[in-house]
Amino acid sequence: MDERTTGIYIHIPFCVKKCNYCAFLSAPGDEETREKYVQALIREIGRCKVNFTSCEPISTVYFGGGTPSVLSPEQIGRIMDALRANFTIADDAEITLEANPGTLGAAEEDVKFTLHQYRAVGINRLSMGVQSLNDDVLKFIGRIHTAEDVRRDFKAARASGYDNINLDLILSLPFGNKEGAQGAPLNSISSQEQSLEDLREILAMHPEHISCYSLQIEEGTTFGKLYDQGLLDEITDEEDRDTYHKVCKALRDAGYEHYEISNWAYAGASGSAGLSRSKAGLSRSPYRSRHNSSYWNMSDYIGLGLGASGFVGGVRYQNTSDLQKYIECLNDPGVGITPADIHADVHINTEHDNISEAVFTGLRRREGIRYADAVRYLANRDEADASQDFDATDTSAEARFWHFYADAREEAESFVRSGHLIIDDEGLRLTELGIDISNSIMALFV
Ligand code: SF4
Repeated sequence: MDERTTGIYIHIPFCVKKCNYCAFLSAPGDEETREKYVQALIREIGRCKVNFTSCEPISTVYFGGGTPSVLSPEQIGRIMDALRANFTIADDAEITLEANPGTLGAAEEDVKFTLHQYRAVGINRLSMGVQSLNDDVLKFIGRIHTAEDVRRDFKAARASGYDNINLDLILSLPFGNKEGAQGAPLNSISSQEQSLEDLREILAMHPEHISCYSLQIEEGTTFGKLYDQGLLDEITDEEDRDTYHKVCKALRDAGYEHYEISNWAYAGASGSAGLSRSKAGLSRSPYRSRHNSSYWNMSDYIGLGLGASGFVGGVRYQNTSDLQKYIECLNDPGVGITPADIHADVHINTEHDNISEAVFTGLRRREGIRYADAVRYLANRDEADASQDFDATDTSAEARFWHFYADAREEAESFVRSGHLIIDDEGLRLTELGIDISNSIMALFV
């Protein structure tokens, strides 16, 4: 069975400026707004504990954004103090801060000082948004930093004692396709060549973890508008998939375990750890993101802050994404806060929701979904199963899974024959080829 944990996600919705491709809940915020937000967040932490008493101890905390490193170490420290005052944080908890180059200081010594201070308040893992190491590309996509900032900040992070660092890279950037794309670094190098060159330099830095995402052009973003005006082309699916598989190979050769569709953790020089799946169990890199892994194994996580989502005790909820409402509601001591004031959306998962989410998220992982982990959500179905067309003498997890998904079995088997899916007596998992059509395969189990 998967190891279940309880995590806390904290959303910091501020950035220095909006990147051209970004559809996340983030915007620039002045110092006063940021401070009011921190105060509101601390009040939310204090008032929400009563709803989440069954969740302790907390094994991961993740500051995501936005750009959490636009908050000072002192502000992050106050948030951590509030968490410690209201929850039991495990001694070995993974505590991640998304820290973007360009926000930590202007000189190496400043960056080191800032990172030391974050460490002092409990941060023990950094996730840095690198995206590319080509200054023209960085400018084109609207990042605030240069490639040199990335190199300096990574070096400073190592010097400050961080031994668990993730670097994010964007693949399949849509440049070089149309001459009208403003600021696009046109035609000197293909998008794929740029991605592979960026990856080579990232690998030479030896981070413990690497995330690679293909760029999606989203509505409402600067890129979305350029696309609508016909000034930007998307990379074709074929090129995107070809880039992805070349990236997979380069990471595998460099010793990274491909443990989730877009995530790799350093596993040792052989590069083989974690890629095989045996009955004796998986060999796992110690650098897998424990926090993100909790999303993929249906663990509980508490979402705090603007627009944050949570999943606790089978209930999914999402906080309001209205910044003014969030701040005013929480910072006015005269207002009696109930979860309904902050939670914009609450959904009690049905049994069907739970099992399909377990399969959907489980298939994102390289080890896939085990029948036993999926059918745990069918614990109350024994009687119903027995009364239907079901061989009640075979109560194995495998039999129960396929009884529930009887309609999907034939098509699932066809994906096995085409080399996209592996089904065995423990569960099912995508092949690397299967990742290319993961949505179609996952849709069978919704
Ligand atoms: S730094 Fe991240 S969250 Fe902020 S605008 Fe850029 S992509 Fe969006």
